[in-house]
Amino acid sequence: MKITSIDLIELDPIPENGQIPLFTRVNTDAGISGIGEIGVPINGFSTASAEVVKRVARLLIGENPMAHNRLWETLLRKTFWGQGNGGVIMGAFSALDTALWDLKGKAYGAPVHELLGGKFRDRLHSYASQLQGGWKRAEFLRPPGNLDWYREAFRAVIDEGYDTIKVNFLSVLPDGRPFDPFEFGPHIPRKLMEVFEERLALAREMLGPHGEIILENHALTDVNAAIEFARVAEPYGILYYEEPVTNLNPEQFRRIADATSIGLATGERAYTRYAYLPYLQNNSVSVVQPDIGNCGGFTEGMRIAELAQMWGVSVQSHTCNSPISVAAALQYEAALPNFVIHETHTTNGLASVRRIGAHDYQPTDSWFTVPDLPGIGEELSDWALAHATVTTLS
Ligand code: MG
Repeated sequence: MKITSIDLIELDPIPENGQIPLFTRVNTDAGISGIGEIGVPINGFSTASAEVVKRVARLLIGENPMAHNRLWETLLRKTFWGQGNGGVIMGAFSALDTALWDLKGKAYGAPVHELLGGKFRDRLHSYASQLQGGWKRAEFLRPPGNLDWYREAFRAVIDEGYDTIKVNFLSVLPDGRPFDPFEFGPHIPRKLMEVFEERLALAREMLGPHGEIILENHALTDVNAAIEFARVAEPYGILYYEEPVTNLNPEQFRRIADATSIGLATGERAYTRYAYLPYLQNNSVSVVQPDIGNCGGFTEGMRIAELAQMWGVSVQSHTCNSPISVAAALQYEAALPNFVIHETHTTNGLASVRRIGAHDYQPTDSWFTVPDLPGIGEELSDWALAHATVTTLS
């Protein structure tokens, strides 16, 4: 089998959040195709990755698509900039790698989780993610920041059967302005901290003693403020604490880990196993969160998970994109011994996102059933294909 062409499939921006969904479809002379999603759609950076795909397509066309490992290494080592990686480049490589695994699954009539070694579970527990923006709300980039907004979001997910949530309690100030890292990143004034704690206390009260809470800072805080918030949050029982600071220096995580009993998590902006290794070596994280759409695809995602296992670290795939990326995450997480919990992002519930997937997998009472269809088990919907701009590289 040979790769004959690669399609770039671009959709219009998601109206609610401006993300630009972009996919690679790898086509072969056997008539089998595979699809993958570029995992950097926020702020439309996926379009920059599409330019990378255009530059590297010639390295794949004419090659055997089954040789995913050799093709991955070719992208890394024969493109010069591949070894600098970064989100834009790895977003491109990851989408191509995902498409190759999808294609391979279809060729063998097997789900990707079987190709990865087989599934450890038939169902995946999930948490409701990014509730500071409300739950499945069109306004989610412009939340008002008052307690009623949080109460409504928490009620909505509890009513859907979730017992675990992730919230950035800091991202919106009481007056609705976004948290400014230049103003509050180094130190959170006590008056403001009281507001953040009030939101956290509400979450704990509504979830009850058995619910789970994941903190998310989106790296808005510096080390000092991240520790300040950790100390306030500790009594509320926290599952883990995501991106408390920038992931550019793992030693910052080490300092926070020294100061709190809460486990730390990072990964959505870390690319390839090389970026994860120092976090493991300095024992600063409890959970890593590779995004199959930007960490290097399934090929590299498995290596990251296996490295993490050596340090006793758990894995949750970062997932905030279209149903294609959700399906890829389900395949990956099903095949991991150290999977912790799946992320159901508020974006995944928007009608404008759900219509992109032919199957559009959604959880029941917060649990996903792992698809057993060949490949990643998901395709672009007829709606998506009818509204896409397709560029064919051959
Ligand atoms: Mg995050």
